Amino acid sequence: MQAVYTFADLQNWETVTAGENPPLRLAVLGDPIAHSASPPMHNAALKACKIDAAYCRLHIHPDELSAALRLLPGKGFIGVNCTIPHKVAALAAMDEVDDHASRAGGVNTIRICEGGRLQGFSTDGLGLERAVSEQLGVEIRELRVLVLGAGGGAGHAVAMHLAASGVRRLILLNRTFEKLQPLKKAVAAIYPRRFLTVRAWNDTTLAEALAVSDLVVNCSSLGMKPDDPSPIPAALLTPRHLLYDTIYTASRTPLMLAADAAGALSANGLDMLLHQGAISFEMWFQREAPLEIMRKALLDYANAKGK
Ligand code: NAP
Repeated sequence: MQAVYTFADLQNWETVTAGENPPLRLAVLGDPIAHSASPPMHNAALKACKIDAAYCRLHIHPDELSAALRLLPGKGFIGVNCTIPHKVAALAAMDEVDDHASRAGGVNTIRICEGGRLQGFSTDGLGLERAVSEQLGVEIRELRVLVLGAGGGAGHAVAMHLAASGVRRLILLNRTFEKLQPLKKAVAAIYPRRFLTVRAWNDTTLAEALAVSDLVVNCSSLGMKPDDPSPIPAALLTPRHLLYDTIYTASRTPLMLAADAAGALSANGLDMLLHQGAISFEMWFQREAPLEIMRKALLDYANAKGK
């Protein structure tokens, strides 16, 4: 299997993948995509469940996405995942979507049904909920939650999931305030306005939000680079705060290091990735995913990458 396939490869799939055993029938579509940890995680699951299919990376440019999605049924695909920057555009190409995807405004999981119909799902919000429960030992609906970077794709999906779950209070901050406007409208349609706060992210709003939050979910990309500052200075955190950083890495993110300094509990996004992947697997195969095998494969991959 190649590390990455292209749209041109997909057009000639039968020739390009001739001799692949098991056949490549699942993929993650993104741009860029070479970094994706999904193939090792899913291939370990497919092997453990003795499913005759393999999962690969497809580097698809935005202007190729709709044609690529239309090609998948004829090439024998069971399903795919979509990642940056395709989640929103893929939604428009679906024949049907579940409630999570329509609320999230994007799809990260597609099931290819009989007749080539495309069913879209969003598993990011549920993935976060399971990861927070498992890693931090709390149920999100009991908490007052601050979402940092709520204006991005992950932030939108997470905020809508938190709103639909009925969290006790929801505070949405984003560096670029204008990007919060569509989300504010969508959240307000399903969540009580008196429990909702939507503001630009600055030092003052951050300190005010932290004073009335139990859980902080970092959905901003601040912290992806090792020399990034923490999105929250340690001095603003207290031991009662719970921090979930959606950035996935084998090491401690800048936010986790700030949490350590403040004596607060934290976790990174590897488990969110694991759980959203496990839910995707369950959507495709209508069976329980081998979670521990997927977890080990993901950790091994992340450790090997030194991320
Ligand atoms: P995105 O749509 O590009 O959004 C990026 C967000 O980060 C925006 O809110 C942006 O604010 C904010 N941001 C970027 N640089 C910033 C800075 N210097 N200061 C403050 N805010 C900053 O990306 P995305 O798809 O939402 O992904 C965001 C993060 O979520 C990534 O780290 C990704 O790895 C993670 N994620 C994790 C999982 C998982 O399974 N663990 C799944 C999905 C995403 P502006 O609007 O002001 O630009």
